[in-house]
Amino acid sequence: MFKILHFGRSCKAYLSLYKDHAPKIKLCCEACGRSLHKHGRYYRSVTTKHSIYRIPIYRLYCPDCRSTVSLLPGFLVPWARFATWVREAAITRKLLGLSYRQARKTTTVPALRYSHSTMRRWWKRHIRTASSVALWVAGQLVSAGFDGDLLRMYPPGAAKKPEDTLLWLRQLLSCYTPVYPWRQGYFALLNSRLPGAELL
Ligand SMILES: [Zn+2]
Repeated sequence: MFKILHFGRSCKAYLSLYKDHAPKIKLCCEACGRSLHKHGRYYRSVTTKHSIYRIPIYRLYCPDCRSTVSLLPGFLVPWARFATWVREAAITRKLLGLSYRQARKTTTVPALRYSHSTMRRWWKRHIRTASSVALWVAGQLVSAGFDGDLLRMYPPGAAKKPEDTLLWLRQLLSCYTPVYPWRQGYFALLNSRLPGAELL
């Protein structure tokens, strides 16, 4: 199991805080409620625009359930090798009309370039998850008392395209977080808040 939390806005910030020390947080087991114990760490690599970082991932353990929880920073989701802001930048460029090739070329240095099929996979995944993430963000806005017409923000037109939902999600996000979270981006910010496995 894993738990995604906000542990700094960048890999450098994460490393300066947690290179040698586990985060000082107390969590309870989601299954039985018992306090989790520290349970060592392992290392994972994370690729950013310019570098590959090796970062420690701290683990917690429930002695009753004998289950382990890995604490991931918001910019690193379990299935991904690249930091969320690289994927987010690539998806944003594609959404603005750039080709896969142009998006790939402008989001990492040449030595760290990802493949065409990786980019396509990111794009398809985003299209798949965007509607449930958009509904979650809309729900958050409604419960916070936002009084704008959220459905009106959906791009007009009779022929709906998958990109329309992506554009709607961006509109909702600009209401949810009026100041764009520079450095970490929307994906890392949302990953530590989204319920379930609807990760970006
Ligand atoms: Zn437990």
